[in-house]
Amino acid sequence: MAPGRERVASLLEEALGPGKVVAEEDIVRLYAREPVGLESPEPPAAVVFPEGPGDLQALARLAYRYEFPIYPQGSTTSLSGSAVPLGPGVVVSMERMDRVLEVSLVDSYAHVEAGVRIDDLNALLAERGYMFPVDPASASVATVGGAVNSGAGGMRGAKYGTMRDWVLGLEVVLADEEGTRMMLGCRTVKCRQGYDLVRLIVGSEGTLALVARAYLRITPLPEAMVTAAGFYDSLEDLMESVVEVKSRGIQPYIMEFLDEKAVELAAAYVKPPVEARGAMLLVSVDVNREAVDRYSKTLAEILGGRARRVYIARSQEELDRLGLLRMRRSLFPAQVMHARRVLGKERVLKIIEDIAVPPSRLVEAVRGVREASERLGFDVIIGGHVGDGNLHPSIGIDPDDPAMAARAREWFTEVMRVAVKLGGTVSAEHGIGTLKREGLRMELEANNAAKALDIMRAIKRAFDPKGLLNPGKVL
Ligand SMILES: Cc1cc2nc3c(=O)[nH]c(=O)nc-3n(C[C@H](O)[C@H](O)[C@H](O)COP(=O)(O)OP(=O)(O)OC[C@H]3O[C@@H](n4cnc5c(N)ncnc54)[C@H](O)[C@@H]3O)c2cc1C
Repeated sequence: MAPGRERVASLLEEALGPGKVVAEEDIVRLYAREPVGLESPEPPAAVVFPEGPGDLQALARLAYRYEFPIYPQGSTTSLSGSAVPLGPGVVVSMERMDRVLEVSLVDSYAHVEAGVRIDDLNALLAERGYMFPVDPASASVATVGGAVNSGAGGMRGAKYGTMRDWVLGLEVVLADEEGTRMMLGCRTVKCRQGYDLVRLIVGSEGTLALVARAYLRITPLPEAMVTAAGFYDSLEDLMESVVEVKSRGIQPYIMEFLDEKAVELAAAYVKPPVEARGAMLLVSVDVNREAVDRYSKTLAEILGGRARRVYIARSQEELDRLGLLRMRRSLFPAQVMHARRVLGKERVLKIIEDIAVPPSRLVEAVRGVREASERLGFDVIIGGHVGDGNLHPSIGIDPDDPAMAARAREWFTEVMRVAVKLGGTVSAEHGIGTLKREGLRMELEANNAAKALDIMRAIKRAFDPKGLLNPGKVL
């Protein structure tokens, strides 16, 4: 039987040394929730703040011996329930493992600790003309360990994909008898090491191993950027512009979409100096300085063919001045504001979906989501990464209204059903966590792949024989 709360805290203090364990309930509770309103039903025994891989090993050995769960955490910005503890056990917060250990431009990597925040890494890389291109909208706080484990993506996904495309190697610690520490993968871009265990850890949501450090691929910052924003009266016209951009051989750096309601909210929030009305398509292309004029013209021509209004920014500064990217980035706070207004209360629960469909099926997906929302009586707002077919429909609910919560669960399932029916996926980048476990089953069954779950369970046992790492998530 696992020891009680106080005993766990004192065992941890003994094993890790002073100043790395906090057991005061008020503080522990701060590490027991996620921004969308999810909260642990009971507080964990303690929060541990490791300062290096050795501390993670000591924690893992202890957890194995005394059989208590470990809940790894970065900044808890997960939107899927993957970072919230589900009961007794220990939260491990990576906030003190926040050093960039090495940057090599010649070898194209950054070697970092798991608690480094993505924006901090990018500020450092920018001084040398480089970047780490995976940019979740939460990048100002999201950590490398959290992004690795949630398989995060972001706006540049249209060109650069997601974490799985940018992680070269991982130093991990296992929850086994020895607290095994090992380096998986390579520092080189090309790397064959039998089965690809690095890609197994990416997106594993803290259920397979504790990630201590990572070798991340880096790439030069774009020399110049051209952005076009078009405001459309009809969704079909907007999607036609997407098709035209893609079929003219243009590889967008960013390709984002907000529906007309999202535009209205984001514009009220950001107050940009543009006439923001209708659905918005935002397309950025990274180019050589000499090509700025040519691409400005081409994008104006493509979007202008169907949009009621087009704005062109020929540099990052101009884009900042027009507030167009800020509108897209402010979708989450704008949605929360909207939910408060509609429900007439301060405490609301925001539910954000994360489906993806092949981009050619986006119009059908938006229609399907709107139909389901109307049927269930929700005022849905839709925005997303249109370049890679990833939509984030969202609704706000009153957490104190059980009937509304039940309808919201139905909505969540219906939206996932729309994606699966169109050959898409229930989670593009936020992960499975606790919220999408049923959705994962639905998708695998639709793909005739139910056995994949048995394989995943076997993999989980091989990494984490006692099932101590982030139990209750994914599977
Ligand atoms: C406003 C907002 C906007 C967002 N926008 C995007 C977006 O554009 N794209 C996107 O992909 N996501 C987005 N997200 C979701 C989320 O922010 C990202 O997935 C982010 O990468 C999570 O980082 P984190 O440090 O907060 O991780 P956490 O939420 O703390 O953890 C995420 C998962 O990783 C595990 N974990 C964390 N650190 C470790 C470690 N060192 N070892 C093992 N497991 C670990 C946790 O157990 C959990 O399962 C957004 C969230 C918010 C609130």
